[in-house]
Amino acid sequence: MGAAVETHCPYCSLQCGVGMRVDPPRAPIIEPIEFPTNLGGLCAKGWSAAELLTHADRLTTPLVRDVPGDRSSPLRPAGWDEALDLITAEIQRAQRTYGAAGVGCFGGGGLTNEKAYQLGKFARVALRTPHIDYNGRFCMSSAATAANRAFGVDRGLPFPVNDIADAQVVLLGGSNPADTMPPAMQFFDAGRAAGAVHIVVDPRKTATARGAALHLQPTPGTDLALANGLLHIAIREGYVDKAYVDGRTTGFDAVRAAVAAWWPDRVERITGVGEALLRRTVRLLGTARSAMILTARGAEQHSNGTDTAQAYINLALALGLPGRAASGYGTITGQGNGQGGREHGQKADQLPGYRRIDDPDARAHVAGVWGVDPGDLPGPGVSAVEMIDRFGTPGGVHALLVFASNIIVSAPDRNRVRERLAALDFLAVSDIFLSDTAALADVVLPTAQWAEEEGTMTNLEGRVIRRRRAKPPPDGVLDDLSTLAALAGRLGNASFSADPRTVFDELRRASAGGIADYAGISYERIDAEQGVFWPCPAAEHPGTPRLFAERFPTPDGRARFLKVDHREPAEPPDQDYPYLLTTGRIMQQYQSGNQTRRSRSLRLSADDPKVELHPDLARRLGIEAADLVELHTRRGTAVFRASLTDTIRPDTVFAPFHWGGLASANALTDPTLDRHSKMPAFKVCAVALRRVGGPDDRSPATPPPVHLPAPSRRDS
Ligand code: SF4
Repeated sequence: MGAAVETHCPYCSLQCGVGMRVDPPRAPIIEPIEFPTNLGGLCAKGWSAAELLTHADRLTTPLVRDVPGDRSSPLRPAGWDEALDLITAEIQRAQRTYGAAGVGCFGGGGLTNEKAYQLGKFARVALRTPHIDYNGRFCMSSAATAANRAFGVDRGLPFPVNDIADAQVVLLGGSNPADTMPPAMQFFDAGRAAGAVHIVVDPRKTATARGAALHLQPTPGTDLALANGLLHIAIREGYVDKAYVDGRTTGFDAVRAAVAAWWPDRVERITGVGEALLRRTVRLLGTARSAMILTARGAEQHSNGTDTAQAYINLALALGLPGRAASGYGTITGQGNGQGGREHGQKADQLPGYRRIDDPDARAHVAGVWGVDPGDLPGPGVSAVEMIDRFGTPGGVHALLVFASNIIVSAPDRNRVRERLAALDFLAVSDIFLSDTAALADVVLPTAQWAEEEGTMTNLEGRVIRRRRAKPPPDGVLDDLSTLAALAGRLGNASFSADPRTVFDELRRASAGGIADYAGISYERIDAEQGVFWPCPAAEHPGTPRLFAERFPTPDGRARFLKVDHREPAEPPDQDYPYLLTTGRIMQQYQSGNQTRRSRSLRLSADDPKVELHPDLARRLGIEAADLVELHTRRGTAVFRASLTDTIRPDTVFAPFHWGGLASANALTDPTLDRHSKMPAFKVCAVALRRVGGPDDRSPATPPPVHLPAPSRRDS
């Protein structure tokens, strides 16, 4: 057996190091390796990732419909030339009919940096459309917006993940790493073994909360009131680091005045978290030698998610944490390349290097690298949900190209998304399997998987790492760089390389001088140094594992306090929808489930989507364990198996969002957007529920769509 190829798990942002052994005819094998983020650990998703490389559902040929837009005609296998010619013709038809902005691109936070960069360039240079956004908008955008406005930079963790082990106190707001990234718990466990105290804020007593010293269990949608209340107590009880606030920040006086109204008893009334627990939390944070405040989607995926992240940042700044050893504020990124995916141009308002697309200097720099006139670059487009909402409408997108995203499962308000997708003249999807979204497409392109490609990813720490090829893709499968180069060529632009290293070198030049500066990072350095942290502006620069030690990258070098106020969730409970629905992940599944729902070993432990509800609520509604329960909101219905647990508040139910079909949590969710980040309010809406079946009734889990291969009639 040959040596293992060192690469990284394809799923979450921890990007655990794995070794891939490929020795046909045996199936590829994964083995964990010692990488700084996982220290040899892997979760069930990582262990099982190799199963999908040889999965029977794998797409190995393009699929087309004979009549684009007529989704009643079946998908049939086609050759690459036919599929790419059809996409090109439909792009050109949409451009002639609607103008350049009639074509759009939708990317994903799982794409390598090279692919995310190339997709942004493809939209702006080959298509000349402003319409590009990606599913990271559903994931990270609120914390990113808050960090940008407070610190002048958005890097999920501004310190290496193993600093967590050295923090005396860690507050986790809406984060459950014990389930979402179990190997990271090694750092939390090491901290606790050394005497650290951990505090979890979560409406559910999750696996992470169970291991913490303190659990604050607020009503969903009240995190902002809670964070303002903590700052109120910190000020009144004298925990503010005055020297830090005076020397390193601006805007404190306005925030101090704003939180004066957030008395602990008022916070207790709104959040349900007792005053004593609030005070204890602040005392622990305020007296610690080192302390971290970390948020994740539980605090961020709200219509006030940006302000909630800002409220936690205000607290961290008042305590003098950012830039101090083993201290600070950070957000725990979700998707594998959620960080890099938002740095290099697949966001509607951005150019590579985390540059703003409306900044004339940024446009001139990037246009110079791309060899185009800055005036030819389109301006900012609209965010993901806004783009979806306008599919098929005047000024909106009519022909859409989707890469590595399963919109129909991952976007909020599934029925509306389905209706808007149906209004498109043309839809093309590149994926490894026939995803729920690909099943609706006019053209489906098969693409390479993680272990079949070269490239870079940027993990939750801002560490740029190598994805290495352990085996070639199956015959008939291209990677997305080749697809984009072929499409750009057909559209008359020959400047798109299909070679990852060439694309990365161009990305380095395009990012040079930007906030996320990769200019000094090379494949060789990543290999030699177990990754390189950005910013890294020159080959001789060591990279930047820790930010903010001396100054913040704002014009005056200071971090900014910003006053933020609590607002009720967009959709509070009422007589018709009397309970609160919150959604999230479970350990055995990942995102829209297009991959993990196909894994046999993961299905064995989590094949039946379950709604968590408190036994008191279940009793009131006549629901027993394992019954089928229909959840009903103003937007739709979904069915789950009941899981009764006293770890959840009696007014709240929790549904996982990994399934499509009958068990689609996003058939229920509220598409109301955060006004700053355009993040949907996934984490709270009003819901009603009722029993619709017993334990013996069939699971509501709908298997993912499968394409049954048939002989091609038109192979080229
Ligand atoms: Fe993969 Fe994340 Fe699990 Fe690590 S924690 S094995 S990166 S899914």
